[in-house]
Amino acid sequence: MREAAYIALGSNLEEPQRQLQAGFAALARLPDTQLVAQSSLYRSAPVGYANQPDFVNAVAVIHTTLTPRTLLDALLSIERMHGRVREFPNAPRTLDLDLALYGERVINEPGLTVPHPRMHQRAFVLAPLAEIAPDAQVPGHGRVRDLLAAVDVASVSVLKAITT
Ligand code: ADP
Ligand code: MG
Repeated sequence: MREAAYIALGSNLEEPQRQLQAGFAALARLPDTQLVAQSSLYRSAPVGYANQPDFVNAVAVIHTTLTPRTLLDALLSIERMHGRVREFPNAPRTLDLDLALYGERVINEPGLTVPHPRMHQRAFVLAPLAEIAPDAQVPGHGRVRDLLAAVDVASVSVLKAITT
């Protein structure tokens, strides 16, 4: 069955805007998947480890028949192709692709947690997500627009608006 999945993209190294455009293009090329919509690009201050460049963030919605596990593996593979190196938690990264939501499924498996465990409190995910799916439900937490209203958005701003 085809489901809507929401992918959160982030980058703060090696031309982040270009990294995100390449990330969208790679999502569009996934098998059994359509890239349905992409948010504006947002700039956000780093979280957790402050001594690094600002991030560029966005969210994509895809329709896919890939299983959540196959989709995650594909996302991690795209990250590797874009030179992602895991040095330490919250380290700078060329391209981060998180599976934020997969329909309204709740998944708790080794290496795969959906909804992404911190998305409901991250303004840099909720702001772009609210732009394309304000009424989406984050299972266990509520509607995207309500979650966005509850977080501090001061460190997140639109960098490049959708032009389509
Ligand atoms: P973060 O994005 O939280 O900064 P990483 O990108 O380094 O951290 O991800 C670490 C691991 O988290 C990945 O190897 C992946 O197996 C796991 N993971 C679990 N659930 C998810 C999810 N929903 N989306 C992306 N990665 C996930
Ligand atoms: Mg990640």
